[in-house]
Amino acid sequence: MSVSSRTDHIQIARVIGIPIYLHFSWLIIFGLIVWTLSTGYFPAQYPDLPASSYWAKGLVASVLFFISILVHELGHAVVARRHGLRTRSITLFIFGGVALLEKDPRDGRAEFWIAAAGPLVSLTLAGLFYACATLPFVGPSAAAVARYLALINLILALFNLVPAFPMDGGRLLRGALWGSMGKARATRIASGAGTFFAFFLIFAGVFSLLRGDPLGGLWYILIGWFIKDASAASYQQVRLDEVLRGVTVRDAMVEGVVTIPSTGSVAEAAREHFMRTGYGGYPVTRGEAVVGLLCLKDVLRLSAEEREATSVQGAMRPLTDAIVTEPDAPLPVAIARMAQAGTARLLVMHGDELVGLLTMNGVVRRLKVREGLG
Ligand SMILES: [Zn+2]
Repeated sequence: MSVSSRTDHIQIARVIGIPIYLHFSWLIIFGLIVWTLSTGYFPAQYPDLPASSYWAKGLVASVLFFISILVHELGHAVVARRHGLRTRSITLFIFGGVALLEKDPRDGRAEFWIAAAGPLVSLTLAGLFYACATLPFVGPSAAAVARYLALINLILALFNLVPAFPMDGGRLLRGALWGSMGKARATRIASGAGTFFAFFLIFAGVFSLLRGDPLGGLWYILIGWFIKDASAASYQQVRLDEVLRGVTVRDAMVEGVVTIPSTGSVAEAAREHFMRTGYGGYPVTRGEAVVGLLCLKDVLRLSAEEREATSVQGAMRPLTDAIVTEPDAPLPVAIARMAQAGTARLLVMHGDELVGLLTMNGVVRRLKVREGLG
């Protein structure tokens, strides 16, 4: 349901129809990787070479590492497509990537294989780079870079296989448990494992800090924090889906709604309706027909003089699909429409007839009751 903001991402490419975004944190991490490889890893592994050679190796290895992560995510996307799921986007960020699927897989089997695809791709890449390094016609510089890429892809595969939701390993675990115990319990167990692993990483990070390794320590803490937040968020999402499953607009709407006529002034409506009841909005009628929605927000935008001079008709939001829903529409769809329209209420119409009003407050109250009663 949530749509992540694109302000901290830039689109860098489009591969097999999927937009590829780069999170700004990646630029910093990319610089850090080039720097550690060129001044740390390569000089230690292959001493007595000129500095320019280390920087060239560092840069090439970093770019190929970046491409390796992208290919890993594309692995998820290709298998998801085989299971009938579209990938909305791939974002490369702080310590890897995320392939955002349009929705959760249908069953545990699909989840399992979509999750397995990424680590399998990384393992394959590790094997290929290792083979490259041993080919007789590959020069020593290229072989050094290939050996590093074999190692880093192996690490990438193993790290992602840790059974901590929402990492690949956690999804494998959820996929494996899903069939026997249902999605909700499987998610609870997998995200519990995710939280446990996250705290383990954070403690390991603090321990490294105390032992005098600030860079490694901060790295662990950062990744741990990310996994902790992500596993909690995925669990919340699953719970929300569960509470909302099968709920329609009719279940959460208010009936017997008071309407206000379009001909009066906004000041009149404010005095006689808004101030008297404290409601946040009213359907507006002309004769028998519903013609719009007047919200408190629209009233507050006007000065006292303007309220006297403006008719309800002039200040209301006219009747369009954006502020209307049907009684049989699924509640999550209606909530998404509210978010899109930037309003906390929708007119519930059956054909031309007004049958109720759906308000955000009403939805929240309804969810609390449903959750409380199990
Ligand atoms: Zn993955």
